[in-house]
Amino acid sequence: MSDEKYVALIAHDGRKDVMADFVRRHKKRLDGLPLVATATTGGIIEAETGLDVKRVLSGPRGGDLQIGAMIAEGKVRAVVFLRDPLTAHPHEPDINALMKVCDIHNVPLATNIATAEMLLDNLK
Ligand code: PGA
Repeated sequence: MSDEKYVALIAHDGRKDVMADFVRRHKKRLDGLPLVATATTGGIIEAETGLDVKRVLSGPRGGDLQIGAMIAEGKVRAVVFLRDPLTAHPHEPDINALMKVCDIHNVPLATNIATAEMLLDNLK
């Protein structure tokens, strides 16, 4: 699995139920893909699907930056980042950094479920 790139999955608290539903519905598609997630999101994905997920720190504790670093290193093929735009986040700079690094390295980034569905359908 060394050369395989990860699909990164992150959900803010207000979107974790949406992420849980997304991974349940797409379990077959996600199975076999290397997955990386922030700590709490990863725990939910494992609990919902039994899929193996590499877990980094929780987003507010640096997990977004860890995934951002993986993106910069070319280790991520796509990101589903279900943000809650109606809630203030103390780690807003980290969130912005993650999205910025996706744009710098042209990594597909879905920030809502409609785009996440399209992204998964078209994942190369
Ligand atoms: P979490 O982190 O999955 O550990 O909750 C996500 C975030 O809030 O950025």
